[in-house]
Amino acid sequence: MAKDITIDGMITVGDLAEKLDITVTKLIGELFKNGMMVTVNEKIDADTAQIIVDELGVEAKIVTKETEPNIPTRQKSSDSPDAISRPPVIAVMGHVDHGKTSLLDKIRDAKIADDESGGITQHISAYQIEHASKDGEKRKITFLDTPGHEAFAALREHGAYLTDLVVIVIAADDGIKPQTKEAIRFAKKAGVKMIVAANKMDKETSDINRLKQQLSENDLMPEDWGGDTIVLPVSAKTGDGIEELIDMILLMADVENLKAVDTGEAKGLVIESHMEQGKGPTAVVLVEQGNLHKGDFIVAGDSYAKVRTLQDTTGKPVDVAGPSTPVKVSGFKTMPEFGTQFDVVKTEKDARKQSKSSTTEKDARGKLSGASGVDLLKAISRTNKLQELNVIVKADVQGSVVSVIDSLKTLNTEEVAIKVVGSGVGSFNENDLHMAQTSNAILYGFHVSIPSSVRSLASRDNLKLRIYDVIYELIDDAKSELSELLAPEVITTDLGRLKLKQVFKTTKSEVICGGEVTKGKLKVPSFVKVMRGKEELAEVEAVKLQRGPQEVKEVQEGEMCGVSLSTETKLNLEEGDTLEFFTKELKQRTL
Ligand code: GDP
Repeated sequence: MAKDITIDGMITVGDLAEKLDITVTKLIGELFKNGMMVTVNEKIDADTAQIIVDELGVEAKIVTKETEPNIPTRQKSSDSPDAISRPPVIAVMGHVDHGKTSLLDKIRDAKIADDESGGITQHISAYQIEHASKDGEKRKITFLDTPGHEAFAALREHGAYLTDLVVIVIAADDGIKPQTKEAIRFAKKAGVKMIVAANKMDKETSDINRLKQQLSENDLMPEDWGGDTIVLPVSAKTGDGIEELIDMILLMADVENLKAVDTGEAKGLVIESHMEQGKGPTAVVLVEQGNLHKGDFIVAGDSYAKVRTLQDTTGKPVDVAGPSTPVKVSGFKTMPEFGTQFDVVKTEKDARKQSKSSTTEKDARGKLSGASGVDLLKAISRTNKLQELNVIVKADVQGSVVSVIDSLKTLNTEEVAIKVVGSGVGSFNENDLHMAQTSNAILYGFHVSIPSSVRSLASRDNLKLRIYDVIYELIDDAKSELSELLAPEVITTDLGRLKLKQVFKTTKSEVICGGEVTKGKLKVPSFVKVMRGKEELAEVEAVKLQRGPQEVKEVQEGEMCGVSLSTETKLNLEEGDTLEFFTKELKQRTL
């Protein structure tokens, strides 16, 4: 039976030989036969690996590992007879400047402090509102705040998976834009219903019919045009239509029949985690089932906590949180990963045990905390190849760490790649510096401040420590660093041709011959392709040119001359062979 060899996009020749249980020399030989001159540390892709495996007659199938982000799944409705209706979880998404923040502000009627860099929300977070309908019934709605910045698409995708319903905000004066399309795609992929909020209807230039036309062209036929997409005109500025939007959200939630059991031990998802001064690792979790209490023991992947404090999203301490409620939890031993499911367990011992046996695959994002020395060494030795740029990424919150890494990975090409040898939440510390030194990594910090002691250590050891608040600048920096790893481009320029008339002397490393220049102008030093008819025999170097007894630098078309060729393997030239002269120049490439 053919065995499966799972690789992560590319595999080094050495690793493949090991997996196939053959010698490296044999594998290199086979690659060589296929025209690939590679060394043991060079990487080949899955397709090449499969061709070579087939040619070797080895029964093996190369499978590329799925690199999809760890997308959480949710159970939207509980079948339990005890289940009761729960608040809907909503994400508001849309193109930048279409009014996502303004709409959310209007809905919760509170202003978000304008203290974020470039006015962008860097992480996923959540809050809950209580809405009193006309008949006085009070109902809760949970909103997830997904980051709007282009570089955070992965997080927005996560956001779509966490929700019951996505509100797509589109400025009716601007229409469908790239991030609108992205939001529609994410919602569809996650299988969640959408409501379109046609925003900025107070503006004269807004045209809802034009927008409906665009929606219909994007597979979202408006309801009043015979489709099933609800399009509501709103204005985040005047507040018009907001009430109707909330009513519609609640109506659609009713149709979805969202239910959960609100008793018993809690289960849910980690939707944000960060280090909080005085509190240590802290997470915002979304309770899905049951009740989460202060003092509960919870396990989230390889992290666990005794819930020390619980706060609602306004910062108010609470003792208990039920279904669809986002709460901030302190008491974690280490930072739980974004998107991880959490469960309440009976005792601290159970929590410790389960978190240890958690098989959370720590991929190459290699969390700094918790990774053993051996893991780190492996990560480093696996990655210390010339064409890889080792980096250590630290950011203010877990969501940003993931986003920075995802953005960095978009720079990867077949020749150069970012290798994350460490990552984590919070500032850089001495361990990180040590690791940067041993793995020759660049330290990229995003929205973190660096203690001056760490800064001076880094400069003493000549480490590359780069702190950014704007993601594009960080990515640009990494891009130029990666460009330097690119093999330079070889530019060849044809010079001319010589028809061989006579061979004067042949040794192991030198051939002296003579002939007529039939085309162009020959120069030395230069390179020479030796052609016999259409067949290329060798590529050698031309080191000396002679016209008669005199050594010259150049000879022209029509002239006779002697050439001295330097060769690495013995070359048997014959009268009638053609020597094609050319030059090679190296040019640094950029990504
Ligand atoms: P976001 O990038 O999608 O979060 O967009 P913002 O909420 O920051 O809004 C972008 C700009 O559009 C801001 O200048 C808002 O004041 C403005 N804006 C948002 N909603 C409306 C609206 O309904 N009417 C008008 N006239 N302007 C709006």
